[in-house]
Amino acid sequence: MLKHTTRRHKNMKIGFIGLGIMGKPMSKNLLKAGYDLVVYDINKEAVAEVTAAGAKEGRSAKDVAGQCEYIITMLPNSPHVKAVVLGENGVLEGAKPGSILIDMSSIAPMVSKEIAAKLAEKGMEMLDAPVSGGEPKAIDGTLSIMVGGKKEVFDKCYDILSKMGASVVLCGEIGAGNITKLANQIIVALNIAAMSEALVLGTKAGVDPEAIYKAIRGGLAGSTVLDAKAPMVMKGNFKPGFRIDLHIKDLANAIETGREVGVPLMLTSQVMEILQALKVDGKGQHDHGGIIQFYEKLAKVEVRK
Ligand code: NAD
Repeated sequence: MLKHTTRRHKNMKIGFIGLGIMGKPMSKNLLKAGYDLVVYDINKEAVAEVTAAGAKEGRSAKDVAGQCEYIITMLPNSPHVKAVVLGENGVLEGAKPGSILIDMSSIAPMVSKEIAAKLAEKGMEMLDAPVSGGEPKAIDGTLSIMVGGKKEVFDKCYDILSKMGASVVLCGEIGAGNITKLANQIIVALNIAAMSEALVLGTKAGVDPEAIYKAIRGGLAGSTVLDAKAPMVMKGNFKPGFRIDLHIKDLANAIETGREVGVPLMLTSQVMEILQALKVDGKGQHDHGGIIQFYEKLAKVEVRK
């Protein structure tokens, strides 16, 4: 479902920093929607691809921020966002007062708050706006975007965000976007683990995994996760998508946040250890659907069609 126009948005320049699996298609959707983009990434190939689609190249995060009222970041984790925003040649050094940082990376909620406070000292605003939906929905512009920040800043950024997402929801103050994303990541990880355990059991007990999938997908056990991951698993396709390494990062942030606010996360901690075992086994770059390989190894059976 594409919903772009080629109307130009006069005088509105958006900076986009971080052109990876997600940032590349998200930035291209903003270009298709008619925004002027200035982009930056340490990966020159990624920059070349997005400039070929119509963006201008910035020399650094500082340079990008100096040219734009809205600056979007889509980076791996908290340390990357801190470095790009607060570090040398970073956003804070170049940004004009009144400009808005929209950090769409999934990072620790406490770090979102810390960065927003530093930006406020320079008269800048910030939203934390992580996403769910993975590369396919980033390409279609149908991500689910969960946002933290002031309502008036959210309202100003809504049009931009809606070019990348089918749902854009204000969840609360700064940090609330990333808290919501942690909830999302717990549910996704536990769902994949449950699916893996179940399909390995069914397969080793002699039932065709495809029959199991077809029989249960319309019932209470059916889910977006099951529909996305069961077909991949049965083909042995573990190409990311969403890498196990990134899910380890998200669950580490969830467990740390659980400690901060006083919530024990028993199931999350177990799946975290499964992810760690897969990483040690050299599978950190696999899609998180690869969680099934942990169960397959234990049970000595493969769930394949
Ligand atoms: P990625 O690793 O593919 O992309 C990150 C990009 O940031 C890379 O192009 C990298 O070169 C760039 N980068 C790193 N450090 C930089 C720096 N100092 N300056 C400039 N550029 C820098 O990651 P991704 O899969 O696109 O994920 C980005 C974020 O979105 C992560 O927080 C991830 O958890 C989240 N996310 C990913 C998915 C998914 O399916 N891939 C889904 C939802 C959310």
